[in-house]
Amino acid sequence: MNELISVAEAQALIAAHMPLFGSETVPLAQAAGRILHAPLHAEHDHPPFDRVMMDGIAVRWQAVLPRAFALAGTQLAGMAVQSLEAGDTCLEVTTGAMVPVGCDCVIPVEQTQRDGNRYLLAEGYQPLHGQFIHARGSDCVAGALLLEAGTRIGAPEMALLAANGMARVSVGSMPSIAIVSTGDELVAVDAALGEGQIRRSNDVAMAAALHLHGFDRVVLRHVVDDAAMTRDMLADLLRSHDVLILSGGVSMGQRDYVPAALDALGVRRVFHRIAQKPGKPMWFGVGPQQQAVFALPGNPVSALVCAIRYVRPALLAAMGKAVEPGEIVCLDAAADTNPTLTCFVPVHVQSDPSGRLMARPVPSRTSGDFSSLPRTHGVVELPPGGNKAHAGTVASLYRW
Ligand code: AMP
Ligand code: MG
Repeated sequence: MNELISVAEAQALIAAHMPLFGSETVPLAQAAGRILHAPLHAEHDHPPFDRVMMDGIAVRWQAVLPRAFALAGTQLAGMAVQSLEAGDTCLEVTTGAMVPVGCDCVIPVEQTQRDGNRYLLAEGYQPLHGQFIHARGSDCVAGALLLEAGTRIGAPEMALLAANGMARVSVGSMPSIAIVSTGDELVAVDAALGEGQIRRSNDVAMAAALHLHGFDRVVLRHVVDDAAMTRDMLADLLRSHDVLILSGGVSMGQRDYVPAALDALGVRRVFHRIAQKPGKPMWFGVGPQQQAVFALPGNPVSALVCAIRYVRPALLAAMGKAVEPGEIVCLDAAADTNPTLTCFVPVHVQSDPSGRLMARPVPSRTSGDFSSLPRTHGVVELPPGGNKAHAGTVASLYRW
């Protein structure tokens, strides 16, 4: 029997053995949700010209400003820049227009009154020098670093990429992932249940944990507890996928064929068994072509905890995602711990009035009980030692 390793050791060993998935270039429209691989620098000053911020008139500011301005023209958004010739004239402007040459003050239309070919200032209104002008380069100057490599591309990042002319974007390549359920007792969601059978649920749950973080090249397979069939299916999947995630068949049962099958296929075991609860039997190894192989225990809570604690972060890192500081929460009630095992405890998370994230333990009775998980947001990681973590204990949160 091999030694149990700690959670931290398991995480470090996975990180040290994960292949990198490389990068690819995609059209901007397909970049949302992906991991940026090259930093983005400002293509030009932002804004690229002094920009009008209000619909109204542009004038030349003076300490003693005329109260009436003769209309000398119109500068609409998108027009080439015009000039103001005299201090007692104005140009009509719209939001987004270039500030006309010779103007340094924009007066909102609400503070004016049209009188024939003139604009009159509202009674008592005193505009300030430079008002409602968004100065060229005041957001950032050409060449400034806007996005670092490793950033996940969300809505604001899409806006920046577009504004800087990135019609094509270098992003982390999407690994092709196979999720394999093992077990004679498992049937499909639409099958009638026979005696002793249950429906497969780990595969779709783990696929969701990945899909919701952008992974979209995922196939699901099932194999019964048969040594030769397990080996054949895994051999086939190793030929066509970068990552295998197995659930079940990795414990000590007489029909747990997964470790032996992986061994026979040349998948090098990096570790088997972690000092944690649930999920102790987890196995991790590397295939002959550097495929990452995660073999997780079949119990639904165990499989999902291992998927979010180890598999998903490792896949995101291998796609080039920068590591972010984890979320820290505070237990608002005591939770059971274990003298020698790290415990992962499902929690419901809510902010207290001061904004601190409080976690209420919702322990599942067994690692097979997943009926209460939908009322939780994830698990907290409680390190080994003692039998209780008291209310007020600070812990890392891993969301589903
Ligand atoms: P195993 O790790 O193969 O010993 O399985 C442990 C428990 O998890 C058994 O009760 C299995 O029926 C259950 N189980 C295994 N795989 C799945 C799955 N894909 N979906 C739901 N339950 C599963
Ligand atoms: Mg099984």
